[in-house]
Amino acid sequence: MNSIPEYFGELVFGDSAMQERLPKDTYMAIKKTIDEGKSLDLTVANVVADAMKDWAIEKGATHYTHWFQPMTGITAEKHDSFISPVGDGKVIMEFSGKELIVGESDASSFPSGGLRATFEARGYTAWDPTSYAFIKGKTLCIPTAFCSYGGESLDKKTPLLRSMQAINKQALRVLKLFGNENVTSVKTTVGPEQEYFLIPNDMYEKRKDLIFTGRTLFGAKPPKGQELDDHYFGTIKPSVSAFMTELNEELWKLGILAKTQHNEAAPAQHELAPIFTTTNIATDHNQLTMEIMQKVARKHGLVCLLHEKPFAGVNGSGKHNNWSLSTNTGVNLLTPGETPFENAQFLLFLCAVIEAVDNYQDLLRLTIASAGNDHRLGAAEAPPAVVSMFLGDELTAILDAIENGSAYNAAEKVQFRMGVHVLPKFPKDTTDRNRTSPFAFTGNKFEFRMLGSSNSIAGCNIALNTAVAESLCRYADILENASDFTEELHTLIQSIIKEHKRIIFNGNGYDDAWIKEATEVRGLSNLRTTPEAVERYTDPKNIELFKKHKIFTEAEVYSRREIKLEAYCKTINIEALTMIEMVRKEILPAIEAYTLRIANTGNSKRALMPDADCSYEKKTVKKLTSLVLTIDERCNALEDALASVRSVKDIVARAYAYKDEVVTVMAQIREAADEGESLTAKKYWPYPVYEDLLFGVKQ
Ligand code: ADP
Ligand code: MG
Repeated sequence: MNSIPEYFGELVFGDSAMQERLPKDTYMAIKKTIDEGKSLDLTVANVVADAMKDWAIEKGATHYTHWFQPMTGITAEKHDSFISPVGDGKVIMEFSGKELIVGESDASSFPSGGLRATFEARGYTAWDPTSYAFIKGKTLCIPTAFCSYGGESLDKKTPLLRSMQAINKQALRVLKLFGNENVTSVKTTVGPEQEYFLIPNDMYEKRKDLIFTGRTLFGAKPPKGQELDDHYFGTIKPSVSAFMTELNEELWKLGILAKTQHNEAAPAQHELAPIFTTTNIATDHNQLTMEIMQKVARKHGLVCLLHEKPFAGVNGSGKHNNWSLSTNTGVNLLTPGETPFENAQFLLFLCAVIEAVDNYQDLLRLTIASAGNDHRLGAAEAPPAVVSMFLGDELTAILDAIENGSAYNAAEKVQFRMGVHVLPKFPKDTTDRNRTSPFAFTGNKFEFRMLGSSNSIAGCNIALNTAVAESLCRYADILENASDFTEELHTLIQSIIKEHKRIIFNGNGYDDAWIKEATEVRGLSNLRTTPEAVERYTDPKNIELFKKHKIFTEAEVYSRREIKLEAYCKTINIEALTMIEMVRKEILPAIEAYTLRIANTGNSKRALMPDADCSYEKKTVKKLTSLVLTIDERCNALEDALASVRSVKDIVARAYAYKDEVVTVMAQIREAADEGESLTAKKYWPYPVYEDLLFGVKQ
């Protein structure tokens, strides 16, 4: 096999392939489109399409697809072959510029949240040339945005690109004020750390809950969980290592910068982190990573679980969205500077994030809300549902000093003046140790830690980019009209700290006392579940934000709220139905069979020895009999709850009803069924249990 640098990106029609295969003027034209967002004309597109097709065919491709990200949160593709008849029963391989840049697609089966009238099912896909085409299997995949006939966005890519434009525009205004004349674009960068579980395939196949819902709906605690901390960063089993090796190779071929891999806290849990890249590419790459993880796992006799909480009692899986801003001149705007002016600029960008997170806590929270993530947040394994920010003691002390006009270092006795003083050096290492914070500054970037493992990263980055764009816009409006820039800047930063410091919290986010302080003293919101969070989507301030920066129309915000709540209801509905099916067809019959065996044992003993002590059998039969009745009763209650909840018309009310009426009964069923599992002989139990699943991957 070739060396990594040789095969890295070999399945991507990226910059080097374009440079090699396109005429110089075509290459320059497409480069302009990519770098500056200039639109592409059809003659250029024709040349690009032809070169792309030849390249793809050489790599074994027979089909192409517009690869897009509908609001399901996963990716979609419909393959068309390159063949075109030429008479005589012969074909040639063809691909035109038009086919490259727009596709027409039947949008009727994708969620639209009421945006698309049923009589108008057409949707369009349009090439996003800033994300390179690539080959998957035998198909050339063209990353695209997806819109309705009326132009409303039906995907996650369009608003993400719009939010990147918004923050670019506002950041440039601010940078100009600091004299950065050579900066022509600002992009947000993201490195998403991805957690996942690996379990044996044969065991997965035996569990309907894993197959239908991605998580175990039942399962008694095994004797050992993660309490010994012996899995985290532990030696990787050779079979898992073989999986990781192949996964890395597949990702590298696609130009994905897979970098770090390790065992995570729970048994059978692992993590992969890539090197960061531009946000829209990072989003495409994360979707591909999740897809390829699942595919490669199967080849190794494993199943990769991306659900947020596949197993109760051990940690679930999240995703950390490391986020920063960088200029086309290669400057990370969240790196503290060396000179007084760079420092002031850094502090202003820092303030922009602080203000954004405080003003739009609810928005950030709701973008990562899902039925799966509800199991993690606030459960002492992931951040609480309260959004706060960790800055570290040193940086917080500096902000305090600026706010109060006091010396930040008692020995120095100087007040920090914007544009005059240099920030004291604070060691980067001490900034990222607080793992309990939902939103932590880690030296030159922020790490948003509330995402669930299966979340698309598009949603939270749309919110974050837009909210920060709004802060920057406000600052530019003020500073562009300032008579004394430095003075105005100082006052502005002071006022931002004063107003938004309530969002800064450096303590233990898992502590109950924090939740009390956050909500009762600081007035932060605590949106514990998906319905509570998602309901806020359409708050006037959120609609205003999205409208102002041209990310979403009001109708688009409503549609997204509806889609998220629908997904929540449907997920719980599927889980509930799966539960009922497993209880009736597997669990109750298993307990009954075991009860019969015990009863028969007692009877046989009596027949042999009329005075035999059968108190054990009697007690067990009694316990199992009452348990069976309880489970059956609760199952009936769940069926009734489902019937009543389904008829609730209003989507917000329906989501609350699922949370309050269905989820509660499901927990009661599980409790009883898990007790049944621990009372029933293992060989009677109809599917693999926790210890098999969590410790079953072979060396
Ligand atoms: P840790 O947080 O474990 O100390 P690192 O700081 O090296 O690890 O990075 C964690 C993740 O953050 C990686 O995916 C990395 O690529 C990403 N990252 C680093 N710098 C940036 C940046 N400027 N913008 C976005 N992501 C970044
Ligand atoms: Mg981690």
